[in-house]
Amino acid sequence: MTTVTRFAPSPTGKLHVGNVRTALHNWLLAKKTGGKFLLRIDDTDAERSREEHVDSIRADLAWLGLTVDGEERQSLRFEIYEREFRRLVDAGRIYRAYETSQELDLKRKVLLGRGLPPIYDRAALKLTEADHAAKAAAGEKPHWRFMLDHDQPITWDDGIRGAQNFDARQMSDPVIRRADGSWLYMLPSAIDDIAMGVTDVLRGEDHVSNTATQLQMFSALGATPPRFAHEALLTGSEGKLSKRLGALGMADFREQGIEPEAIVTLLARLGTSDPVDPALDVDALAASFDLSRFGRAPARFDEADLHRVNAQIVHRLPFARVAHLLPKGMGEVAWEVIRPNLAHIDEASGWWQVVTGPVSAPAFDDETRAFLDRAAALAATLDWAADPWRALTAALKDSTGRKGKTLFLPLRQALTGQDHGPEMAALLPLIAQEEAVRRLSA
Ligand code: GLU
Repeated sequence: MTTVTRFAPSPTGKLHVGNVRTALHNWLLAKKTGGKFLLRIDDTDAERSREEHVDSIRADLAWLGLTVDGEERQSLRFEIYEREFRRLVDAGRIYRAYETSQELDLKRKVLLGRGLPPIYDRAALKLTEADHAAKAAAGEKPHWRFMLDHDQPITWDDGIRGAQNFDARQMSDPVIRRADGSWLYMLPSAIDDIAMGVTDVLRGEDHVSNTATQLQMFSALGATPPRFAHEALLTGSEGKLSKRLGALGMADFREQGIEPEAIVTLLARLGTSDPVDPALDVDALAASFDLSRFGRAPARFDEADLHRVNAQIVHRLPFARVAHLLPKGMGEVAWEVIRPNLAHIDEASGWWQVVTGPVSAPAFDDETRAFLDRAAALAATLDWAADPWRALTAALKDSTGRKGKTLFLPLRQALTGQDHGPEMAALLPLIAQEEAVRRLSA
């Protein structure tokens, strides 16, 4: 059976690293076996869902390279939910209830006060048809609860957490639909997972108890449930996913010069103890993606790690991937010479400026000045196509006795205006010979 996974964000805000990690892991899980990855927009909450967020979710997934094999929207599927809802009502698995949130609160407090778990007491099940009619006449509308089967054991083998056991008696019948007819997340999601042939639900561990409930929904709907796996939540370096990280979207990372490959590379491994391999090979990343590598301890996301991985990625990016981002005239050879010095792609233009000039060198003492004049004279005679740096430094070493730093640093400073930078042997041929002579004799 082909693996089908889905990423099911509610479009009530932009994606943060935690959401993106879930999306990525679902994508990798599908890709690993040539399966399908679906994007499901969970927009049953019309009030909080925004089209601009749907657009930014799509744009972020595209930017990250997480191609989707299909997109669904819950707001276009209300008829289907209605039909399945009716079926469950008729089967006695969904019932009407009227308690206000204050009443429920009070019930919970009383139970807790007696040292009992705050489970809904199913008082609404005792209402007669006459009671319902009276409520309707008084303008009271019911909300709807799914009736858990107390005799059906709830167990599953979680892809990350291992064997899970829940007792339906210890759980409240969940409200699945509000009095105004709007849907809560739980039932539509189960209906969709069935309809869309989802084989694997991989989501955060904040959904573990929802899974316990939804397993009974799958069975009430007459379906075999998908496999479930729940990932430990992401925390920031300070312990929990900080406000800052929760607020940072992909656009913010993009602005900081973080490449999508860096995010993918880091998040693919976050939560495992496997090393991050900045190899730029998503097929390999998918092939080695393995839920059993993920632990139950919270996964720590550190922005500093992301910047470190980003630099490693930039050092490997091929010219074709970055060409449109580079200054005009900067070609493949220059990119390969310059990229080991970059933390972000946009720093390439600074180094390209060093190649094309002008550069401003520091003031040199008289002796060094004389040395550089000699270098300029020599440079003018060299074959620029045949390793001019080696020829230049070898000749200068012989004729001046300078070596090491006293030989190399003034040359670098005069030629680039900098103390550090790309390998001079690779950089010098990029600088035109006349320009190099001019810089040395300036
Ligand atoms: N819309 C739900 C959420 O964002 C989806 C959870 C799920 O993956 O089932 O929490």
